[in-house]
Amino acid sequence: ISLDFEDCIKDSPNFRDMVHQSEVDALELESQIDRMVKHCTVMVDTGKVYNNACKGFIGSIHEVGYGSTDDPFVQETLKRFTQTMSEVTSFHTMLFDQAQRSVKTQLSSFLKNEVKPTRDLKKTFDKVSDDYLSALSKHAGAHKLKQNELDDTNAVLNATRKCFRSVAMDYVFQVNMLHNKKKFQCVDKLLSYMRALFTFFHQGYDLLKDLEPYMKSVSGQLEEVCKTNEDTRKSMVVEQERYQSMVILYLFALTGDSGMYMTWINEAIVIEGHLFKRASNAFKTWNRRWFTIKDNKLFYQKKKDDLTVVVDDIRLCTVRMSDETERRFCFEIVLPGKSFLLQAETDGARTAWIKAIQSSIGAAFKDTMDEIQTQVTYIPAAKKDTKSDNSNPTSFLEDGTGNIITKIYRIPGNKTCADCGKAEPRWASISLGVTLCIECSGVHRSLGVHVSKVRSLTLDQWEPEVVKIMFKLGNNHVNEIYTANATPGDHIKPGCSDDHRMAYIRAKYVDRKFAMSLPKALGPQPAYHGTTGTRLTRWTVSKRRRARPSPNRSPNRSRSPKVGFDCMTSVETCTDPNKRCSLFLTDELSSMFSYFDGSKYTSAGVVRADVNSQILICPDLASPVFDFRISPSVFTSHGKEYEETEIFDLEKLHPDLLMYRSAEAANLPVMLLAKCNNAKVNWMNDSDEGKTALMQAAISGSVPACEFLLVNGAKLESFDWKKRTALHYATLHNQTSVACQLLKRKIDLNAVDEDGKTALDIAVDAANADIVTLIRLKKMSDEMKE
Ligand SMILES: [Zn+2]
Repeated sequence: ISLDFEDCIKDSPNFRDMVHQSEVDALELESQIDRMVKHCTVMVDTGKVYNNACKGFIGSIHEVGYGSTDDPFVQETLKRFTQTMSEVTSFHTMLFDQAQRSVKTQLSSFLKNEVKPTRDLKKTFDKVSDDYLSALSKHAGAHKLKQNELDDTNAVLNATRKCFRSVAMDYVFQVNMLHNKKKFQCVDKLLSYMRALFTFFHQGYDLLKDLEPYMKSVSGQLEEVCKTNEDTRKSMVVEQERYQSMVILYLFALTGDSGMYMTWINEAIVIEGHLFKRASNAFKTWNRRWFTIKDNKLFYQKKKDDLTVVVDDIRLCTVRMSDETERRFCFEIVLPGKSFLLQAETDGARTAWIKAIQSSIGAAFKDTMDEIQTQVTYIPAAKKDTKSDNSNPTSFLEDGTGNIITKIYRIPGNKTCADCGKAEPRWASISLGVTLCIECSGVHRSLGVHVSKVRSLTLDQWEPEVVKIMFKLGNNHVNEIYTANATPGDHIKPGCSDDHRMAYIRAKYVDRKFAMSLPKALGPQPAYHGTTGTRLTRWTVSKRRRARPSPNRSPNRSRSPKVGFDCMTSVETCTDPNKRCSLFLTDELSSMFSYFDGSKYTSAGVVRADVNSQILICPDLASPVFDFRISPSVFTSHGKEYEETEIFDLEKLHPDLLMYRSAEAANLPVMLLAKCNNAKVNWMNDSDEGKTALMQAAISGSVPACEFLLVNGAKLESFDWKKRTALHYATLHNQTSVACQLLKRKIDLNAVDEDGKTALDIAVDAANADIVTLIRLKKMSDEMKE
């Protein structure tokens, strides 16, 4: 509303009405602005609270990002997001500041400096108006005859009118000013707030626009993650269904609510649950314990981390029902040398436990077979590099036939026929350890297998044991023994006549005309050794033993520097058991035997001995003394090599004893020397409980020595005074490789010694799980064949 100066001067009713109206307007304006300021204050204060909440929110997101060091994607994304959010918060802060400045502060001051003074002025106006009106009334009411009174009222009236007009003019001015300012102030302040809003959203838009490409890439990555998650979820669902259907339903059907549980942990079945166990003390109290079958072990615990292993290798135990006590639902676990009683909750639970333990035993055996199967699958890979890589000794034996020739040619002297010297011999005598040309091999064959057993290097299957004989001997060593006394004229040449060849080979191997005799072998030393004329009176047998490295020790520690001085050994130690075991496989069982055979296979807790005997007698080894030493069959499990020497009277040395002792030392050249001097392979040593050379070789754990004896006619069914066989001794001395070899050669499994024990009994007593497994598998296989 605007007031008019003219009306003001007139003081018309219109003016008065307008003044009243302006008063109402001012009041309304004051209350409106007041409300606006109040709401703006609330908005700004709430905004500050909001900003603080945002900061807290950003801080917590930042913590998540900071903690995601293992996930760079999450870390980087959250970092970028919180940066943007922090900027948005600072924009908000600016917006609220602007609202505070432009709206709240300035409108407050407008109210205070403009509206309120106007209203104050109105009060003054009202008072002056009243004075003016009363002066008018007095003036009008004065007596016309009283001049003094008239003068007074007139003066007052003039003064009040003057004052009224002045105040009224001021007021009109103020009201009009306010009216104009009202437009300006409100709109202007709100306009600046709107600008602030514009800036706020504009900056926010720019900021998020910049982030948009990054958000898109995050979204892309998230889709992939989601897909992976979905795949994982699906496979988990599948797994869960499989688990539920296969395991839980089946197992609970099997076990009922018996307190026995089976779970799959790392693809292995774990059986566990509570059982009462009878204490082995005198009180025979029954205690509730948590029993577990895992990794072929049976153990129980009273509390967490308080484990007692009852059965170290489940293959060694048997389980059966027991009605021994007054208690119900008992069963017994029988171990070598002990047994203990357990009680289940119900009869069904007892059955379930017994079945579970029995199937664990079965599974343990199956695992052994599976391991062998896995080894068998190495064949194609090994075959691949057969031809390309002849120089690599690890590939020797890989296909069992053709390539064997390359390896056998590496043995000194083997590239020419041992008898006539013809190049590239294709045949071999496994009982003598020599290579032969086809003509000479024909003569060998005609002499009978008791003299020479002939095999083709290219056509026949070569078993690893037999190959080992070849590696331990070779043409040079054999000829040093068999042609020690030959003159140059005695030898034959490749193109000689059949008769000549026949005569020479007969003389060499049957009559042993040129052979090194025992006394000659023993000394006196040849002049070139510098000990001319020394006559020996004693001989000793030396054998080095070295504990096999057990799987959890580092190869460096167990490798003795002394090992490998023997040229043969160096070839052999390079063989890779994985590849090697893949050879010569015709059926499952024989593959298993190849697996165990002389390989570096070790299972936890069983330590095998490795024998590295010195080659003693062969002159090219320049051993000045015929000196071999024997260590007893006791050895440490710490990989230490040591020697022990036994000294024998030279007078009492004879070929049989030499064979016997060299079998123990696993020294094939010396064994051949003994054979060459007509040693009896099956001679029983009366001073050693009637043991045979084969038993000695079995005790030593030497596969080549055993094989050499077997191809040279050693009998598997020999018994010593304790009625033990070589298998008994291999088992007693934990010689798994030899046990395997003997089983493969079909030694009698059921032979009983004087204590009534079979080899299996001994293995069970000694808790030698490998041999137990071997023998049981062999039995299973025999039964299947029947
Ligand atoms: Zn020949």
